[in-house]
Amino acid sequence: MSLKKMSIDQKTLADKKLTRNTLAKEIIAQSIYMKEKGLTPGHTGNISARYEDGFLITPTGVPYNQLKPDQIVHIVSLEENCDEQKLWDQSGFRPSSEWQFHRAAYQANKSIKALVHTHSNYATILACAGKEIPPFHYMIAAAGADVIPLVPYAIFGSKQLSDGVKISMTGGKACLLAHHGQLAGEGTLAKAMELAEIVEDLAHQYWALLQLGDVKLLSKSEMKAVHQKFKTYGQQNI
Ligand SMILES: [Zn+2]
Repeated sequence: MSLKKMSIDQKTLADKKLTRNTLAKEIIAQSIYMKEKGLTPGHTGNISARYEDGFLITPTGVPYNQLKPDQIVHIVSLEENCDEQKLWDQSGFRPSSEWQFHRAAYQANKSIKALVHTHSNYATILACAGKEIPPFHYMIAAAGADVIPLVPYAIFGSKQLSDGVKISMTGGKACLLAHHGQLAGEGTLAKAMELAEIVEDLAHQYWALLQLGDVKLLSKSEMKAVHQKFKTYGQQNI
């Protein structure tokens, strides 16, 4: 059927499908990039992007290089009390087992439009040592706050873990998850991936500094000035 012959409803549906397909392809591309960059051992990471009233997220148990756009799962609502049976198409693929903390991050921070979760090495090492990342470097401000906080341990898929993520992501865009990994969110999928890479680099640097034993931190006022400068000039160009 040509576009001209479509009713308005059909055209809206076709447009929606196109948008979803484009976003799903971008999620797959970022998943493959994450694997190729060595940011996620095995297939332990997951990626999502806001879509309509909910979000699209990678499915559980499908290798990234075998993902197809229609396997990317649509969680239709951010509501806590929404019946799980109605949250996604039960006849299709199941979402990542960590979908609940993606929802918690979207609930917590409206500026976050996409999320990357990985078990990247150095972020995970610090998270297993029970350490947050303090402002030893000005780029900590890229994560939106003066520290990259540590969410206390709770088993994956639990409400307790989601509640911890919600608290941490309210004031910032990235956090470490104790005995687990990291979560980074931004305005686009590409920026969320870039932030996850920044968090991993900062974790590596902080880990190395801890070996030296004398970590010097930036003051509150120095960090305030960095946040201000990021607002003015755009953090991605610094
Ligand atoms: Zn995980």
